[in-house]
Amino acid sequence: MNLLLENAKIIDPSQDLNKKGNVAIEEGKIKGFPKKISDSRYKHYKRIDCTGKIVSPGLIDLHVHLREPGYEYKETIKTGTEAAAAGGFTTIVCMPNTNPINDNASVTEFILYKARTEGLVNVLPIGAITIGEEGQDLAHIGEMYEAGCVGISDDGMSVMDSGIMRSAMDYVKAFNIPVLIHAEDKGLSCDGVMNEGFTSTVLGLRGIPNSSEEVMIARDINLCELTGTHLHICHVSTRGSVRLIREAKSRGVNVTAEATPHHFHLTDEIVKDYNTFAKVNPPIRTSADVQAIRQGLADGTIDVIATDHAPHSEDEKKVEFDKAPFGISGLETALQLSLQLVEQDVISLEYMISKFTNIPAKVIGLDKGTLKEGADADLVVFNTEDKSVIDRHKFYSKGKNTPFHDWKVKGKVNYTIVNGRIVYKNL
Ligand SMILES: [Zn+2]
Repeated sequence: MNLLLENAKIIDPSQDLNKKGNVAIEEGKIKGFPKKISDSRYKHYKRIDCTGKIVSPGLIDLHVHLREPGYEYKETIKTGTEAAAAGGFTTIVCMPNTNPINDNASVTEFILYKARTEGLVNVLPIGAITIGEEGQDLAHIGEMYEAGCVGISDDGMSVMDSGIMRSAMDYVKAFNIPVLIHAEDKGLSCDGVMNEGFTSTVLGLRGIPNSSEEVMIARDINLCELTGTHLHICHVSTRGSVRLIREAKSRGVNVTAEATPHHFHLTDEIVKDYNTFAKVNPPIRTSADVQAIRQGLADGTIDVIATDHAPHSEDEKKVEFDKAPFGISGLETALQLSLQLVEQDVISLEYMISKFTNIPAKVIGLDKGTLKEGADADLVVFNTEDKSVIDRHKFYSKGKNTPFHDWKVKGKVNYTIVNGRIVYKNL
């Protein structure tokens, strides 16, 4: 079906575009911004009135856990992509820590098959760095790349052996895809369950120091310089990490980084009632870290906003703090929570959209995140005004685990369009 989005505020950072206009979509592709739409040419188009609404490229999330195969009780590719569509995402990148781990082409192909047949949005898998994410032997990276993986990561784990990390970074250069790191020195985080500091002491919970993240980021920036491979740093949580990345970028090191809404909004006091919905890895830190991440987002040190969507079942989270799994369900709140950065004058609306569209596309070398003529018609139509209260029970995701339940937010996704097809609508 051909679509005509009328009277929209079109924001496309890939073309430095912010203007009123119409967007024509033909056979799944962007067909441009026609001025005259009374034309008989558009007679058979489905028209959507976008007055007062923003049309931008569909959002791209570089960090999602879809849980399938293996943990379908937490999330499936079907429910995860439904959540993505409801959040305005048209492309999501899924991490390999499923069961089995995505460390070979057959798992990659399974995920892509499921996404094609049951998914609502584009799904791009990340392959593991090492077999079973065990940090020992390199995974079947070449065949996973051939099958469709857009990067490699042992997310959830760190490759502790620097020699193996160097080999992975050397090897992956041939495919021109990034290495995405979950930076955590297990020797420092030990069995920590929250940020190490005043709050953890008061609560009597084992802490994870900032240095556990920073040590690994420093090492991998060093290996990035040694190998020249593109390094992407996931879910930055500390002020020291922001400083390290800023310094590396100033020297021209090939590094990019992402931050999540929970890390730029919350401080570790959220855990004070032993709130397992706020148990996440890396942990939620202090206000000094939050300020540094916001500054990093504003000055470009942190390139991308990603969710680290990590759904878990209610039973798993409703246990004592020590025993609960790490993770927050993030796909359905990310846009609204990021719009708060705009309202608080941390970043402009255009820059926020850029951190969800053309910049993440560039990180994984993807030809999306743009409304250029001929591009895939992946778009989101949203407004910044509609007020709502986050209600975790209404999530499409099976994971209802969010510390943002009951938060008052503004902004609403009205349509999510993937390849010219409306996959989500909420007026
Ligand atoms: Zn991670």
